[in-house]
Amino acid sequence: MKIGFHGGVGEVTGSRHLLEAEGLKVLLDCGLFQGHRKEALAKNRDIPFDPAGVDAVLLSHAHVDHCGNLPLLVKKGFKGLIYCTEATLEITAIMLRDSARLQESDAAFFNKIHARQGSKETIEPLYTEADVDACLALFTPRPFMTWVELSDKVRFRFHNAGHVLGSAMIEVETKTAKGLRRVFFTGDLGRRKSLLMDPPDVPKTVDYLLIESTYGDRNHDPVDRVESLIKTVVDRAVAEKGKILIPSFALERTQEIIFVLEKMIRRGQIPLIPVYVDSPMAINITEIFSRHLDGFSFSPEFKDYVAKEGDPFDFKAIRYVRTALESQALNDKKGPMIILSASGMCEGGRILHHLRNNLDKDTTTVLMVGYQAQGTLGRRLQDGAKKVKIFGLEHAVWARVETLHTFSAHADQGDLMWFMKSLDPRPRTIFLVHGDPSDRAALKELLRAEGITRVECPEYGQEFPLE
Ligand SMILES: [Zn+2]
Repeated sequence: MKIGFHGGVGEVTGSRHLLEAEGLKVLLDCGLFQGHRKEALAKNRDIPFDPAGVDAVLLSHAHVDHCGNLPLLVKKGFKGLIYCTEATLEITAIMLRDSARLQESDAAFFNKIHARQGSKETIEPLYTEADVDACLALFTPRPFMTWVELSDKVRFRFHNAGHVLGSAMIEVETKTAKGLRRVFFTGDLGRRKSLLMDPPDVPKTVDYLLIESTYGDRNHDPVDRVESLIKTVVDRAVAEKGKILIPSFALERTQEIIFVLEKMIRRGQIPLIPVYVDSPMAINITEIFSRHLDGFSFSPEFKDYVAKEGDPFDFKAIRYVRTALESQALNDKKGPMIILSASGMCEGGRILHHLRNNLDKDTTTVLMVGYQAQGTLGRRLQDGAKKVKIFGLEHAVWARVETLHTFSAHADQGDLMWFMKSLDPRPRTIFLVHGDPSDRAALKELLRAEGITRVECPEYGQEFPLE
């Protein structure tokens, strides 16, 4: 048996690990590298093993840094099945189609600009919507906690990861000449306490653990702080008849915010004001949440709430804005109101129009609820820029910009340590993946202090034999 790390090591995108066990090649995730265009395209195009030689893909969840390169894998010859949970399949279909459309329009735009300047440089999208259809045809949903036989010696099952709807950790069990060996991949790990999700399962026996380490050197603010901060922002918007703009990721974050706002309105903690969800992708994903309300990966609190109050995503304050015309009409409406719109880092999507029209008003609040990467418009606003460029035009910023640091679908350092310390007996080796070098180093050091020393931080392309 051996494991090869072909992405998502020493960085947080492009998750891709190849497990070879008893004659089978099993790929754990096949994510998209994100970052600077040229570098990302080159990394995404380079598949360092033969896709036709892979027997099966086990997919942890629907974020594109875990599933976004699957269409290229299929285009380059993979013919096996892609296993995931039912909810992951439904959300992945939306994510991959969106990814293909973005790549096609990005390439068309790039090529047009270059041709206009007399340059012959062109780029091709990694894959198109037609490639996505071919890829989705191989998807095979399986329930949580049910063994699936890949051969008479290798089987796997999905455990709840508690990260986003449908997210799974993957346990692969192999009968080797030396006995049973269990490889456990966390994918992205959720938190012990989250607004919507059940905490991650703790598996019984793990020989080799592949665990993410995104927040290996940090802890998040406690979840309970969300409500007091939202109340302050909403009360001010009501008093000033202002608009609250929330740039939000379409998966999980949007649904978390809807749930919190609904709960607070229902309990009278904040007044009933309209909450517009202005993102077709977020709306489509929210519908998947509504269809899976009885899914067992939701937290008991959330399920209790649903049992008492019904579908939280179908509440009178929540208005779903599908068409561009309806979205534009929000400009002429007076506040108070809340507008949730993508993208989460203000790099595209309808949020740009709302920012363009409202940043110059001191009654506007921009509420950041997610990580804002360096170089994004979201980060510039968060850092207090007084002027920003949107669609090439300069806009003065009079709006207040607030940040809620509480929301994260990822385990923090405390959660990661809790998970690893709960494993008894200790794994033979722990591989730290999906984290920047400083996060992995911090976690490794902390584990060493606990006496857990068989810890590896694999590099890109590195392989390890599994005894
Ligand atoms: Zn994720």
